[in-house]
Amino acid sequence: MRLDDFMQTCLLHPEHGYYTTREPFGTAGDFTTAPEISQMFGELVGLALAQTWIDQGAPKPFALAELGPGRGTLMADMRRAMARVPGLTDAARITLVEASARLRQIQSARLGPVSHCGGVDELPELPLFLVANEFFDALPIRQFVRVDGGWAERMVTVSEGALALALAPPVPLPRDGAPGEVWEDRPAAAAIIAAIARRIVRHGGVALIIDYGTWDGYGDSLQALQRHGRADPLDRPGEADLTAHVDFAPLAAAAVAEGAAASAPVPQGAWLRMLGIEARAARLTAAGDAGAQTALHRLTHPAQMGHLFKVMAIWPPKAPPPPGFAVLESDAARA
Ligand code: SAH
Repeated sequence: MRLDDFMQTCLLHPEHGYYTTREPFGTAGDFTTAPEISQMFGELVGLALAQTWIDQGAPKPFALAELGPGRGTLMADMRRAMARVPGLTDAARITLVEASARLRQIQSARLGPVSHCGGVDELPELPLFLVANEFFDALPIRQFVRVDGGWAERMVTVSEGALALALAPPVPLPRDGAPGEVWEDRPAAAAIIAAIARRIVRHGGVALIIDYGTWDGYGDSLQALQRHGRADPLDRPGEADLTAHVDFAPLAAAAVAEGAAASAPVPQGAWLRMLGIEARAARLTAAGDAGAQTALHRLTHPAQMGHLFKVMAIWPPKAPPPPGFAVLESDAARA
């Protein structure tokens, strides 16, 4: 079985899949995402989207969209902060892209009436203000290993009654690599970005893609997470989260191919500081929030989430770049 088929089945099988059956989030689950650490994350992301909406002439109506909203925490915090902007709430059509029926229910219970869709092709034809936090890392990957004669795809097979990895016969790929080097491809990602970028070019808007990864590849980055620790990806299919680092270069290329501007990925810590997270943490601390400084550290420190996590923006080429990306305008032109 190809690795992407294995990953897809483990994560989203209707009866046995990880996201369809489990509660992965928070201290009792398997991993903690940025919006689950602190309200500051969603507030600042929401205000960045709101500023971009204002900068683009406050189009009405518009789609306020999220890919893979998990427990709905990010959207709840965004929406509360964005409601400070006159006219915004009435103009926003909240649209959530979520594959798991169980998580759709949790999101609706948290957020009230919202529209759900199964994929980005169903996003409304409206100005699109979109965020995706830890969504792309959950999209299945294929792995290819550089061997004599080309690249051999890593497959999941059964050996002596247990799941094992094996290599398919090598095929030629249009890329170089040292012997043993691993290249990861995420087949679904480019089409998802293209659908988003098309709407942004046509109707206006912005997309903020937040995830851990780098510009151009990590080698083998497939990982399984269970109870906040590493697990074997082949052990207990459907019971552990399976993810891989995000390569931002192919995402930017897919956006630029549709005529959109795309930024280089900015480290999350620097981006949140540019948006004013320190001032927000100080206000929360003064108001008696004992956890605000710890949360600030976790979200921004380079040894925590500040450097590994990146933020990439996609916006219409004629509009100003969204907050936190102004200095990268020249990168966008080169992307
Ligand atoms: N953004 C949330 C949750 C991240 S977990 C947070 O930051 O806390 C990944 C989310 O993406 C889950 O909601 C999962 O069900 C959803 N998801 C994973 N693969 C998907 C796919 N192919 N289509 C739609 N949603 C998907």
